[in-house]
Amino acid sequence: MSLPVPQETASQEAARSLLTALTGHAPAGLWSAPGRVNLIGEHTDYNEGFVLPFAIPHRTVAAVGLRDDARIRVASTFTDEQIEVGLDELDRLFPTATGSEPAVPEWAAYPLGVAWALQQATRSTGSGNGFSGIDIAIASDVPVGAGLSSSAAIEGATASALNDLWNTGLDRAALARIGRRAENEAVGAPTGIMDQMASMLGEPDAAIFLDCRSLEANLVPVGVAQAGLAILVMDTRVQHAHSTGGYRDRRAACERGAAIMGVPSLRDVSVADLDRAATLMDDVTFRRVRHIVTENQRVLDTVRMLREHGARAIGDLLVASHASMRDDFEISVPELDTAVASALAAGAIGARMTGGGFGGAAIALVEQDAVADVADAVRAAFAASGFTEPHLFTVTPSAGAHRDA
Ligand code: ADP
Ligand code: MG
Repeated sequence: MSLPVPQETASQEAARSLLTALTGHAPAGLWSAPGRVNLIGEHTDYNEGFVLPFAIPHRTVAAVGLRDDARIRVASTFTDEQIEVGLDELDRLFPTATGSEPAVPEWAAYPLGVAWALQQATRSTGSGNGFSGIDIAIASDVPVGAGLSSSAAIEGATASALNDLWNTGLDRAALARIGRRAENEAVGAPTGIMDQMASMLGEPDAAIFLDCRSLEANLVPVGVAQAGLAILVMDTRVQHAHSTGGYRDRRAACERGAAIMGVPSLRDVSVADLDRAATLMDDVTFRRVRHIVTENQRVLDTVRMLREHGARAIGDLLVASHASMRDDFEISVPELDTAVASALAAGAIGARMTGGGFGGAAIALVEQDAVADVADAVRAAFAASGFTEPHLFTVTPSAGAHRDA
């Protein structure tokens, strides 16, 4: 009897072949990290609040080889470009000022930024065994720019690989911080820690309840399948761009609101404080504040509902979250509103846009046997509005970053 040969996924196969074509050698190993869906808690991360994301089955794979010089080269199936620099050049290339163009093509700033951040973090502690030269080939089935955090996936795969090969010994939460530093300081995108923590810490059937102030993370069973439900992702194919205007404006409004309330961050404002907040600030700032404050409460309520009553009980919280993002935080777009409204009209238990907004994806919580009907209804609504056909697929909470081979 022969043992079954484990099948490689398409991304594992693609990353392995790209690395082999690049170097003429088989990789030293394969590492991967997933994208994520945020179940609830949007724009609360940089306000030191609460989020509840989970890792999705879609993953980015890094096939990595060691070099005998002190250079690092990155390639990806995403582009024909290859970027190679000396490891001692990373300190000259980074940091990138927030909102400005990195000194390397943007996609390469993610993996090279991770290498830079890992060097910075471990040089000061003296850990690591010297930084050998590295070739990295990336392949992924995480939709890029869809709000499912292909950025955290590429950071997580690269950080996991380099941490093992350079023996830098960081734990998963520390690697999440490396990824965030790369995104903030090498890419120049002012994002929070949620995506990286979800991608590093995900577990099957669990969401990560993250306190973005203490960075304490607790797994919360989601029990979607157990409740007879499925999570449908509705990728609108409207590209969002994190480092541009809207995101920065919202951050600035939140900082302004916190300053007016005399607190370090909006985490310190409660629902009971909102009446007073309304008297102190202009209408736009107040509505931004109200979104963050009520969204934090909705995350806490969702965690409690999941623990006490299961996935079926969170539908209304998802719907309220979407309304708050649409009306108060104003980060939705017509395609996201159409996805949510048509899914709900077709019987979804709850639905909301997920991710930073201005495009990207929405999710719907749907009876397992109604997935096809809801998907048809969403497609029909998009066609009737003249929108690009959405990309629809179901996801289950899945494992975080790991070494694959
Ligand atoms: P999201 O995280 O929602 O997918 P972002 O704008 O945060 O969107 O990150 C997308 C960017 O990350 C891409 O434009 C690209 O620069 C980089 N990226 C993501 N996946 C890959 C990949 N497989 N190969 C190369 N670069 C990637
Ligand atoms: Mg991203």
